[in-house]
Amino acid sequence: MIDWPKQSEADAFYGNPRGPDGKAAMLWKAQNLTHVTPPFAMHFMGTPVAHITIHRKCADSLLRVLQAIWLASGQEQRKIDAWGVSEFGGSFNFRRMRGSNHLSMHAYGCAIDLAPQRFPMGRTSPRFCDEVLKAFAAEGWVNLPRDRMHFQAAHF
Ligand SMILES: [Zn+2]
Repeated sequence: MIDWPKQSEADAFYGNPRGPDGKAAMLWKAQNLTHVTPPFAMHFMGTPVAHITIHRKCADSLLRVLQAIWLASGQEQRKIDAWGVSEFGGSFNFRRMRGSNHLSMHAYGCAIDLAPQRFPMGRTSPRFCDEVLKAFAAEGWVNLPRDRMHFQAAHF
């Protein structure tokens, strides 16, 4: 398992994504972002998601997480849907944390949101089933206690 950085050390580990004009730097994006193809069907607001944009340092790990979830489901799309894992809520997104000047982990491409309607921000429950939580935990990804949709490859 990779020893993920603390959030405060994200710049050193993932690189500094800040570019001019308050956007992500083009060079940083080109050098650090890659894609993972999920082993099951996913969608975003009804549109199929062919691949997930993620930091290259997290890509293999995220793929292992998704493959573990797929195996745990018995490779049944129905179960993946029932668990909420097919509802993609976003990954790379250059933005700040809510109510803060710090960058969100999404700005580094090391975070993914799943089933945002079912697991809305600010609530500790409901949360994902054990199969899903275990798959992320096995790779060291952190599920935020008051943002259950959100998994990140960084510690507090
Ligand atoms: Zn998130």
